[in-house]
Amino acid sequence: MPGKTRIGFGHDIHPLVTGRKLVLGGVVVPFDKGLDGWSDADVLVHAVMDALLGAAALGDIGTHFPPGNPEYKNISSLVLLAGVKKMLDAGHWKIGNVDVMVLAEAPKLKDYMAEMAANIAGSLSLAVSDVSIKAGTSEKLGFVGRGEGIAAEAVALLESALE
Ligand SMILES: [Zn+2]
Repeated sequence: MPGKTRIGFGHDIHPLVTGRKLVLGGVVVPFDKGLDGWSDADVLVHAVMDALLGAAALGDIGTHFPPGNPEYKNISSLVLLAGVKKMLDAGHWKIGNVDVMVLAEAPKLKDYMAEMAANIAGSLSLAVSDVSIKAGTSEKLGFVGRGEGIAAEAVALLESALE
């Protein structure tokens, strides 16, 4: 019997503020604002982490990397993502693929998406072809549309490496 397959979903939002770097998918994107949060507030990576944790039913990012812990202050979320990969390895989970959607009214992310996918693939030991990143706007509607924040949603597929 083949190993079981599991899907997971992740969703995250961070507010845009002045005086912070904008880090998305581990890439510092030039912009006059950045996302606020305890870590580097990489909303895209956080959505991926929650999708992976969800697929393995391992809780969520806040459980494993609680805000307020000095160890995680301004940490690169790619490091946290690699931590999730370790948990999946320990549970004998193999990642199939990851698909992420980022919603940002600005800036334009097209030129940075290949590097974001490479960063995420690197932290998860995946082929770049197993990581999909898409970006869109919110058509000027809601908090994303007003440029107050950036949201991301992700799904991930896991396969059990156990028979
Ligand atoms: Zn987050």
